[in-house]
Amino acid sequence: MEQNGSEKKKLSVYDARENWPPYTYRDYPSITPEVYSSFLEFLSTENTSNKVMELQPWISFCDSRCAFCYYPTAPYSQTKIEPYLAALKKELKMYAETKYVQTSLFDEIVLGGGTPSLLTAEQMIDLIGFCEKNFNTTEGYFIKVTGSSRSFDEKKLETIAKYGVYQVDMGAQTFDNAIRKSLNLPDSAENVENEIKAARKLGLCVCVDLMYNLPGQTMESWVDSIKKAIELDVEVDCYSLEVYPGTALEKQISAGKMPPLGDANKEREMYLTAYDLFTKAGYKAVGHDRFSRVEWHVKENCLNGWPWAGILTTGAGCFMGYLERYSYSNIEDTQKYVETVHSGRLPLGKLSKSSDADMMRKVMTRLYLRLPVDVQEFKRRFGKLPKEVFPKQIAKLEKMGLIESGDKEIRITKQGDIWKGNIAWEFASK
Ligand code: SF4
Repeated sequence: MEQNGSEKKKLSVYDARENWPPYTYRDYPSITPEVYSSFLEFLSTENTSNKVMELQPWISFCDSRCAFCYYPTAPYSQTKIEPYLAALKKELKMYAETKYVQTSLFDEIVLGGGTPSLLTAEQMIDLIGFCEKNFNTTEGYFIKVTGSSRSFDEKKLETIAKYGVYQVDMGAQTFDNAIRKSLNLPDSAENVENEIKAARKLGLCVCVDLMYNLPGQTMESWVDSIKKAIELDVEVDCYSLEVYPGTALEKQISAGKMPPLGDANKEREMYLTAYDLFTKAGYKAVGHDRFSRVEWHVKENCLNGWPWAGILTTGAGCFMGYLERYSYSNIEDTQKYVETVHSGRLPLGKLSKSSDADMMRKVMTRLYLRLPVDVQEFKRRFGKLPKEVFPKQIAKLEKMGLIESGDKEIRITKQGDIWKGNIAWEFASK
């Protein structure tokens, strides 16, 4: 994406970029007995969506706390892991015994979190094996494990690669050691690099998170991190830093102990630089924030099936669960999570059921994921065309040159790519 004068001018369509879409777990209501019963009823029905799903057991422990982290994770302790894993399997089993899940098909098993790589290789394999035994998987399903370079040693990587793990996700964030230190990231950039090399040598696909607009981060430092990722031949999820209330980073910035983030212009320039460098290196922009050279990432079912497919997520604090109209997050406190599971209840913390109006808006958030909105499918499901439901929004975005709308589909344009979060918010409920 070249930044000539006219493109820079066009970038002023919004004052700042929205980096996250509407309908995230933060907005779900706390669970009520009525919605819980309706969810159980839904789970007792057959899955007729014809969509393939992702299974995501969540390991909610970390061995340190990154300064920007807002995830509900607990400090790692060996004594807590076994009771937690027992509860996690019990929760998985509760879902596996429902008619909905028995008539569902999964093409991804993802150990998410948190830091699942804190488990021993044997614990990981035991958990993955439990999922394989209790859930229906497609013939060529993929297994992914999330973790930190500090807890993925070579032996562990070798054992899980031999078992059949396809991808490891590592939260590298930056290869700049000074920034790593200031953000309390575990491990040095050199060791992150070594673990990535070890994983790639074993034939594992590696996906790293890289963050931009970090306090004190120069463009030079950002470009170095991008180039390093390209050199290491990894897939990259690129996130702009968001400072959440209550995080260590927010407190440090408020107290003047850390420089603030760059302004909206710097943030945009960093995104465009990443887009430019990655696409020139043969990467495709996929989903909301990924640059990938792996064809399968473009085809991922749980991505392409949004919002009708599903992510069955389990474990304390998991928050990306959605099964058709239901979206949920789990109880965050690990002890309370374990107790709730053993009481025989699903450990849900928040649960939201979408109406038709919500689902229509959610379908439009496919644009945020760089996916087309199928106009005729929209009509089949809701009895109206997108243009009839959202006439003002579609006309406005077309006029701004951010989307293209035809008889078959609506898509974001090249110019709309940088504003995909803002585009999604245009369709949100006011
Ligand atoms: S490793 Fe991930 S989940 Fe754990 S503290 Fe850091 S950002 Fe949060």
